[in-house]
Amino acid sequence: MADVKKIVQSGAMENVPVNRYRLLLPVLALLLLASHWFRQGDFGLAAALAGLAGLLFTRQAWLRPIVLAALLWGGYVWAQTVVDLITIRLVFDLPWMRLTGIMSGIILLDGLAMASLLGGGSEAWFDRDREWAWPRAAIFAITVVCLAVARNKVGFPILLADRYLPGWGWGEVFLLGFYGQWVGSHMRTPLGHRRYRPRIWGLFSALFFLQLGLGLLGADRMLMTGTLHLPVPAMIVAGPVFRGGGFFMLVLFGVTLILVGPAWCSHLCYIGAWDDAMSRLRARPFAPRASRGLSLWGRGATLLLTVGAAWGLRALGVPGVSAVLFGAAFGLIGVGMMLFFSRRRGMMVHCAEFCPIGLVGNLLGRVSPWRIRIGADCLQCGACVPRCRYGALDADRLAKGRPALSCTLCGDCVSACSDNQIGYAFPGLSPNNARTAFIVLAVSLHAVFLGVARI
Ligand code: SF4
Ligand code: SF4
Repeated sequence: MADVKKIVQSGAMENVPVNRYRLLLPVLALLLLASHWFRQGDFGLAAALAGLAGLLFTRQAWLRPIVLAALLWGGYVWAQTVVDLITIRLVFDLPWMRLTGIMSGIILLDGLAMASLLGGGSEAWFDRDREWAWPRAAIFAITVVCLAVARNKVGFPILLADRYLPGWGWGEVFLLGFYGQWVGSHMRTPLGHRRYRPRIWGLFSALFFLQLGLGLLGADRMLMTGTLHLPVPAMIVAGPVFRGGGFFMLVLFGVTLILVGPAWCSHLCYIGAWDDAMSRLRARPFAPRASRGLSLWGRGATLLLTVGAAWGLRALGVPGVSAVLFGAAFGLIGVGMMLFFSRRRGMMVHCAEFCPIGLVGNLLGRVSPWRIRIGADCLQCGACVPRCRYGALDADRLAKGRPALSCTLCGDCVSACSDNQIGYAFPGLSPNNARTAFIVLAVSLHAVFLGVARI
């Protein structure tokens, strides 16, 4: 029967024959579900389910729990459909027994498909990247669920696909979930994290400003609501103080603080990516040292200035346009700092010593338990110090066993230590599991932001 016979080389699956025909039921069940949504006019969801069926042939282990979850949800969809159809038929006094028989067959097929996926033979089939199956599945699931909830709860089409191709929103959700798990798989090692973080962060920032640019040029569907805001991070706090409302960005920022602490400033901020890129124009930071006074007092002063100015302008009844000019001037000073200081010093001077939101992130990010910790067996060799562009490491900090306030959990230092003495910490988790869980959350947020973060 099995034309594709392969012996899985590892663990309990040894000697289990692999047979691609085991995929028959799951593929059929997914395609039936896809055809149901196609008939309902949800082409994006139909395409996503058909895509999922096709992906099964890649043998990637992360797909197994995802397809199981999709089929479980499919069983619920079919059951609800049966109830709806029978109710309609009863209302119109139409026969319903045959319909019930057919639909029961479909639900049975869905259940058999799940049973087939749970069997040992299927486990043998999904033999690619078993080690990171759950993190990849988790990133896909978190991204898809968050985007689906945002899409349902927000009162306007929040996804670009829904704006330009009505009915295809689920297609975008699926693609972003797929992209997220792909990014996660490349960030599984500290070195991969160090290499891919600036790339995906830069990509996010580029797409964010591309949408803003196109929106300003007239493609107003590229703008979130049509109401423009300044893309200056300080406005996350100062904006609501001036307007007395408009808390969306503040809430988004707060959620990231709870989930990943100050990692907004190393993975998610649309402007921080510029400072990162500028600092990387110098291969290694010049005379790296932990930022001290300016990190706290410098950013404390800009925080007081921006919030105080917003409050004062509001109290004086200054028109919004003047406030926008003030905010834009503040943003331009920040860009100047990137060009003149970050570029020359190879450090993120703007983020670590000037941006008030960076300070808010560093201070309030402490509500989240994520930390970078330096082990007791650290040799104090200093190999990690020049990796830190946020000025959070120096000999003093190594001796104290933890980075300075300006640490944003970027993870760049982790791959520098050949003795694994510096790394992520989370209560109750081993350093390795803490890092994996952090990557899952940070990458999922990144993928969600790609879908919904625009002005
Ligand atoms: S410090 Fe400011 S600009 Fe830099 S990443 Fe954080 S919020 Fe963005
Ligand atoms: S201490 Fe490490 S994780 Fe923290 S900002 Fe510096 S390089 Fe990034």
